[in-house]
Amino acid sequence: MRVVPAVAPIALALSLLSVGPAPAAEKPNVHIVATGGTIAGAQADVEQHGYTAGTFTVDSLIQAVPELKDIAAVTGEQLVNIPSQDMNDDVWLKLAKRLNELLADPKVDGIVVTHGTDTLEETSYFTQLTVAGDKPVVFTGSMRPATAISADGPMNLYNSVAVAGNPAARGYGSLVVLNDEIHAARDVYKTHTTSVDTFRSPEHGLVGRVDTGHPTLFGPPPPRGATYDVGALTALPQVEIIYAHSNMGRTLIDAAIAAGAKGLIVAGVGNGNMTKVAIDTLAEVAKTGVVVVRSTKLAEGTVVRNAEVDDDKLGFVVSDDFKPGKARALLQLALTRTSDPVEIQKIFDSH
Ligand code: ASP
Repeated sequence: MRVVPAVAPIALALSLLSVGPAPAAEKPNVHIVATGGTIAGAQADVEQHGYTAGTFTVDSLIQAVPELKDIAAVTGEQLVNIPSQDMNDDVWLKLAKRLNELLADPKVDGIVVTHGTDTLEETSYFTQLTVAGDKPVVFTGSMRPATAISADGPMNLYNSVAVAGNPAARGYGSLVVLNDEIHAARDVYKTHTTSVDTFRSPEHGLVGRVDTGHPTLFGPPPPRGATYDVGALTALPQVEIIYAHSNMGRTLIDAAIAAGAKGLIVAGVGNGNMTKVAIDTLAEVAKTGVVVVRSTKLAEGTVVRNAEVDDDKLGFVVSDDFKPGKARALLQLALTRTSDPVEIQKIFDSH
């Protein structure tokens, strides 16, 4: 449950002022960590829909926007070069460890992570949960490949570097900057398959906007739950997501358990609901120590505990307003500490 503290009117008025670019004399050091995606994607031919994500390297992305040097001292590295539909736990751990190393370097003022948009909402939230400190970590990507007519990547990168290098963006946790908007990683979801106006934060709204390198932040940093030190981890607990629908049976639940899942997220219908067969099966599963989290396949809203399902009796957890992908990331990390559903509910409620 993200509870935003009340803001005095004067503080709100001040916070709405455009914070502008950092002064030229003190250009911030912004490091770009590239992971692939459509922002690094190439078409064989601009008239074709088809393209390959994760083609161009970080050097090409930087060279494509020479204006970056006017707002920051920019460096870059290539962590992986993949379409984000191939994102996985190993890359998450590698990324979190690398970000923590970079952020501990006093010479780094902020970081931009370039990433495919398909799973950007998951990776950015995972880093919010695993990265220490208050320096900005800004995720960006693009909906059109780098070779497309009116590619959106260059402006997204420029705006992201401007936000990452701006001291006013410190303390916001991981941010997502695309299409001139600044979102909190905790709240943002991709909502459209192809439009450049695809990212939304349905429960809590935008954190700010950015116009050609000039960020405006709307309020104080949102509260942030506890972070997890993944420095010693080489793998994450297995958590599977199961999609609810009419006539839902137990087949996929049984398969997930047989495959070794330690946690299950159900993308429930409506308020995290599912068939009686599924509820009964999950109740059996929960008794064996596997953590069951009821989320929703809907785009908006909070899953309410004990509404139509007796979560207390069945030993279930509800995801609050976390949709399945973010709920999975949080449950994986929570399971590194406990498998007690009561404790895990507290973790969901405090993030
Ligand atoms: N499939 C691509 C990816 O997530 C889409 C994109 O980046 O916009 O890598």
